[in-house]
Amino acid sequence: MAKHQFQTEVTQLLDLMIHSLYSNKEIFLRELISNASDALDKLNYLTLTDENFKNLSYTPKIEIGIDKEAKTLTISDSGIGMNEEDLVENLGTIAKSGTKSFIQNLSGDAKKDSSLIGQFGVGFYSAFMVANKIEVTSKKAGQDEAYTWVSEAGGEYEITPSQKETHGTSITLHLKDDENEFLEFYRIEGIIKKYSNHIPFGIWMDKEETKYSENEDEEPTKEIKNVQINKASALWRVGKNDIKDEEYKDFYKQISHDSSDPFLWIHTKAEGKLEYNTLFYIPSVAPMDLFRVDFQPGVKLYVKRVFITDDEKELLPIYLRFVRGIIDAEDLPLNVSREILQQNRILESIKKASVKKILGELKKFQKDTDKYLEFYKKFGRVLKEGLYGDFENRDAILDLVLFKSSKRDGLISLKEYKEAMHEDQKSIYYIAGEDEALLRNSPLIEQFKAKDIEVLLLDEEVDAIVMPMVHEYDKTPIKPVNNSDIDEEIKDEKEENKEQEASYLEVIVKMKEILKDVAKDVKISSRLSDSPSVLIYDKNDPDFQMQQMLKQMGQDNLPKVKPILEVNPKHEIFVKLMKDTNATMLNDVAYLLMDQAKLAEGMKLDDISGFAKRLNKIIAKAL
Ligand code: ADP
Repeated sequence: MAKHQFQTEVTQLLDLMIHSLYSNKEIFLRELISNASDALDKLNYLTLTDENFKNLSYTPKIEIGIDKEAKTLTISDSGIGMNEEDLVENLGTIAKSGTKSFIQNLSGDAKKDSSLIGQFGVGFYSAFMVANKIEVTSKKAGQDEAYTWVSEAGGEYEITPSQKETHGTSITLHLKDDENEFLEFYRIEGIIKKYSNHIPFGIWMDKEETKYSENEDEEPTKEIKNVQINKASALWRVGKNDIKDEEYKDFYKQISHDSSDPFLWIHTKAEGKLEYNTLFYIPSVAPMDLFRVDFQPGVKLYVKRVFITDDEKELLPIYLRFVRGIIDAEDLPLNVSREILQQNRILESIKKASVKKILGELKKFQKDTDKYLEFYKKFGRVLKEGLYGDFENRDAILDLVLFKSSKRDGLISLKEYKEAMHEDQKSIYYIAGEDEALLRNSPLIEQFKAKDIEVLLLDEEVDAIVMPMVHEYDKTPIKPVNNSDIDEEIKDEKEENKEQEASYLEVIVKMKEILKDVAKDVKISSRLSDSPSVLIYDKNDPDFQMQQMLKQMGQDNLPKVKPILEVNPKHEIFVKLMKDTNATMLNDVAYLLMDQAKLAEGMKLDDISGFAKRLNKIIAKAL
């Protein structure tokens, strides 16, 4: 007999299961059945592809047994089974790295927490919500020894050699005193129908039936029949018209381990050159690992109904990683290896068609404004990533993304922006930065505001990476407002400005000389109304946002980019400078104009004491 200690995270998790989770306990059965179904899938695959398993009997079945006297519920499967090592590995530790942070992130809100548990691959342990002792007897396919794993939670478990005739796993739950409901046939039947109706294998249970004799004098007799509870059909292969909405929703819950209804589903049967079935879901709840590099992919691959993998991140593009569902291909060999999977032409075509389909359905979904907004708040950031890499679908993605605006509340699409554009407006303008308030008040958009031109406010990190890649939408150029190019587009009377510029020249030339180490150029601005100065960037230089981004991505040795300082000729400061171009203070003023423009952009000042000294000098003089 060997005693083992649970890994710390398991102990923590079990503690939570036992003491904090009281609602929605019934999901433990979904989790155990889902594990049984996976075990059957794995064995199926081996018998079809591996010589060593070809002669093994494969009779897939899941059985549920109730023993009212012993107060036990048993879930058995004829799947791949586990040996001693597997038991330690699978039922004593949590392998997934996301789990630690998951446990820390649990809200303490029992209802919320319990529905999250399944997503994190800790399904088995949920059985401790209803059981105070669990026995797992298992025999691995192709091996002779069987083992029993027993635990009453509390930090440790035991594994002993045991007896079992056939391969597979049998899990017996000794139910807690107040969990007798799970000993009732109809209760269990209800849970199975709700959560596991469409797993591809039959789930069987003994049912007591009362038989009435034709002779009325005779007492009715009781008969026990073994009956199949679930439909056991691969739902994605059933015709659309034969599937009720409820069935679609239930199936979603089964594959996603999520307990809320999805926003929508997309069911496709392709025939002809390429044959496949796909069933995709857009969840209404974001998976917890959405922004983790090691996220669990949500799409499972089947080949001719045989489960192949649920661990392939590239079945859909990464920016659609929130999608859940099934791809079932007809024309792939069963024993496709990983490497082959990733560059398989057939899968590539299915992926391509699926992306088009999903983006198209999302576009239709956009008409339901409120729901779409809800969707967008959860997944918009992820979707935007697609603008970076998926050139082929860029237009479709551009139709789906939403932005904040300088003129309106809420989020707007590029289409809405275009519809509201002025007749002579040449481009779609945006300003990017980290802080919405800073963007709204930025000197860079003063002139736009004065001219009533709408500016998109991009305050998400991902914007700084993706937007410079996007040059136009529906034939209209998209430009950042801090681009040196834009001047021409929003200037009033070019000629007049030219003339005036000449008269400003002397001051400008001097300022240029003073600031030559920190500014690439000093120019008269036509984009300012209230502020005295602003920074812009040469159209070939990365702006401040982009530089920050590149630094965060580990690019330390970037060449130093100097911004261009634009000054407002109508501002009192400049007007006064013009009157006295020999002002001794020109040096201080030039630096102060530069520094305040930096601050307005959310930058840090390199020389804070210099800034304070100059400012104080001027304050003292003004007093
Ligand atoms: P998950 O199923 O998400 O991986 P679980 O905690 O539910 O997480 O199960 C852990 C592991 O234990 C599974 O990945 C599987 O390898 C193994 N396992 C659980 N139940 C069975 C079973 N009935 N047959 C074979 N292996 C099982």
